Amino acid sequence: MDFSAQMNIQKELTCPLCLDLLTEPLSLNCGHSFCQACITANNKEPVFALGGEHQCPVCQSRYQPYNLRPNPQLANIVKKLREVNTSSHQWQGGNVCEHHGESRLIFCKEDGKAICKLCVLSLEHQGHQTFPIEEVVKECQEKLQETLKKLTDEEQEAEKLEANISEERATWKHRMHTERQKILKGFDEMRGALDREERKELQKLEEDEVNVLDNLAAAKDQVAQQRQYMSELISDLQHQIRESTLDTLQDVINVIRRSESWTWKKPKIVSTKLKSAFQAPDLSRILQEFKELTEVQSYWGKMLQCLQITMFLSLFRSVVTIRSHDLSFMCLSQTRIHTRVPKCSTHL
Ligand SMILES: [Zn+2]
Ligand SMILES: [Zn+2]
Ligand SMILES: [Zn+2]
Ligand SMILES: [Zn+2]
Repeated sequence: MDFSAQMNIQKELTCPLCLDLLTEPLSLNCGHSFCQACITANNKEPVFALGGEHQCPVCQSRYQPYNLRPNPQLANIVKKLREVNTSSHQWQGGNVCEHHGESRLIFCKEDGKAICKLCVLSLEHQGHQTFPIEEVVKECQEKLQETLKKLTDEEQEAEKLEANISEERATWKHRMHTERQKILKGFDEMRGALDREERKELQKLEEDEVNVLDNLAAAKDQVAQQRQYMSELISDLQHQIRESTLDTLQDVINVIRRSESWTWKKPKIVSTKLKSAFQAPDLSRILQEFKELTEVQSYWGKMLQCLQITMFLSLFRSVVTIRSHDLSFMCLSQTRIHTRVPKCSTHL
């Protein structure tokens, strides 16, 4: 900060009573401000003639003590100014040359230190580049401020970026959570469907089993019954062969008739093949095909979007072309109108 500007500000922030920088400033309606302690002391002075009112020590305008307002903005500015004062005192500290007792008002570039005007003449600093210390201090302060600002800006940027990354991370986390739920639900549904299919297949198999076994049992019974009848016939025939006489001729004829009228009925045995043989589907292949299909769908979805955009653009272009045709037509008619203007006015 420029020194005279700093002095002007300091004047504005000085208490008119104690002539020091304002401490806990209180302001009056007239616009004058004082330290809290100073104006409180002023309030204690006798005010018999003023009907309980007090007078501003600067402009004498009247006020009631309860009209004194704390002024935090002013307090803030005073605080800042105190900081600036401290930092400039810091720069001015140890300002006297230890060899010559003179103020160190010159900066030697080669040695990088502050020296006095007698040091400049000494052999030690002969031929060295020197600058007024004020300039160097000013330059350093400016550089410090500049660097501080740059770093502060970068820090703010980093803070924003950090917040953005956090936000993005949260968004991704949420998306991943949703996606995970989708996967779990999808596979749950697939497992449910598979379970249902399994139950259906087992049910079918059970029904087939009952059918086949029942059929076979019936066929076995049928065969057994016929075998029984056949074995009776055989033993009758054997008996007649061994022991028939002329007296038992009628029995022989009967046995022959029974034998001839007998037909061996083979039961129809069901096919050994199952009606509906189960074949497990190649689930991984199906999933692979499904994945490819989804990719193709998303590809065509994108293609469709592109196509729509292209169609829109070409439509837009044709509209623009029609418009520009209209426009050129209008221009043409205007030029025609212009050409009709008599020649004498063309020089205007
Ligand atoms: Zn004061
Ligand atoms: Zn005043
Ligand atoms: Zn010196
Ligand atoms: Zn030097």
